[in-house]
Amino acid sequence: MAKIKVTIDRDGCIGDMVCVNLCPDVFEMNQDDGKSQIVAKWRTNASDLSTGLVDESLEECVKSAAESCPVSVIHFEKV
Ligand code: SF4
Repeated sequence: MAKIKVTIDRDGCIGDMVCVNLCPDVFEMNQDDGKSQIVAKWRTNASDLSTGLVDESLEECVKSAAESCPVSVIHFEKV
C-alpha cells in the first residue's frame, strides 16, 4: 500500500490549529512551542516532529489540511 510523506515547515507555522481540526489523525499541537507536529505514530524518526509517513487512506485528510493552512507550510507527496 502506498504511503503519503507529510512534512510541516514548523518554523513557519503560526499555530492556528486549522490542520489539527481538519485532520487530527495526522496533526497535533505541540504543547511546548504551540506549533503543529506529526502525530507520533506516523513519524519516520521519533525526534523529528516535522516528518511523517502516513497511510494512503489519510491522503484526503492531509490534502485538506495542506490546502487550508493559511501559511502553506504543509507539504505531501505519494511515495
Ligand atoms: S494549519 Fe498551518 S499554520 Fe495552522 S497549525 Fe497547521 S501547520 Fe500551523
